[in-house]
Amino acid sequence: MRTAMIILKTADEIDRMRRAGILAAEALREVARMVKPGVTGAHLDRIGEEFIRSRGGVPSFKGYRGFPSSLCVSVNDEVVHGIPDGRPLRDGEIVSIDLGVVLDEFHGDIAVTLPVGEVGKDVQKLLTVARESLFKGIDAVRPGRRLGDVGVAIQRHAERAGFSVVRDFAGHGIGRQLHEEPQVPNFGEAGTGPVLRVGMTLAIEPMVNAGGYEVYMDEDGWTVRTRDRRPSAHFEHTVAVAQDGPQVLTAIPDGVL
Ligand code: MG
Repeated sequence: MRTAMIILKTADEIDRMRRAGILAAEALREVARMVKPGVTGAHLDRIGEEFIRSRGGVPSFKGYRGFPSSLCVSVNDEVVHGIPDGRPLRDGEIVSIDLGVVLDEFHGDIAVTLPVGEVGKDVQKLLTVARESLFKGIDAVRPGRRLGDVGVAIQRHAERAGFSVVRDFAGHGIGRQLHEEPQVPNFGEAGTGPVLRVGMTLAIEPMVNAGGYEVYMDEDGWTVRTRDRRPSAHFEHTVAVAQDGPQVLTAIPDGVL
């Protein structure tokens, strides 16, 4: 894996990224409050976009390679990159909401998967483990450690619970660009991959499947689905590598994760 292209950020740039990250987390909190049976993805998209713009930000995803919306809204077997539409969410479904904000030239990227109404025990376990996997990955962030240490921490936690991690999509470096080097896989081997250095900024985003890890692309060219049609959960934070460990740039005190 190349490491030369990884852009390190100064302390000032990380402060700016934190402001973008906080706005992203606040927007996600607003959207998450609306999630209930009967609400449509299109409505959530509108709420999110209006909130981001009202605070002076711009949605990172809208227009990115032609993506039509501000939020990715991925339901049940949809893993990531679902396009919000007019179908009402139903009781017992799960919905991943992923949003990015650009503010003062820097991006923040965050995602959460939420239950719609009441979900079954197995589905709730998937949400819990996927969320924990994100924090296992974050906890592995230390200067001098390697990216494979992050991937293996995520993978180990998900697989121990009987779930799988998606191979075909990964987290990513983030900064002035939504997607920068390096790729941040949700699997790997300890002690391999690029060395983590102070000033690296990473979007860590486990995609955890209830069944197998295989996915396929929907006919819309965006929506990624599980091949076995079983549910998938997705959680994401934007994280800076600091001298004393990880700094989560998308954390707010009463946030959704
Ligand atoms: Mg991302």
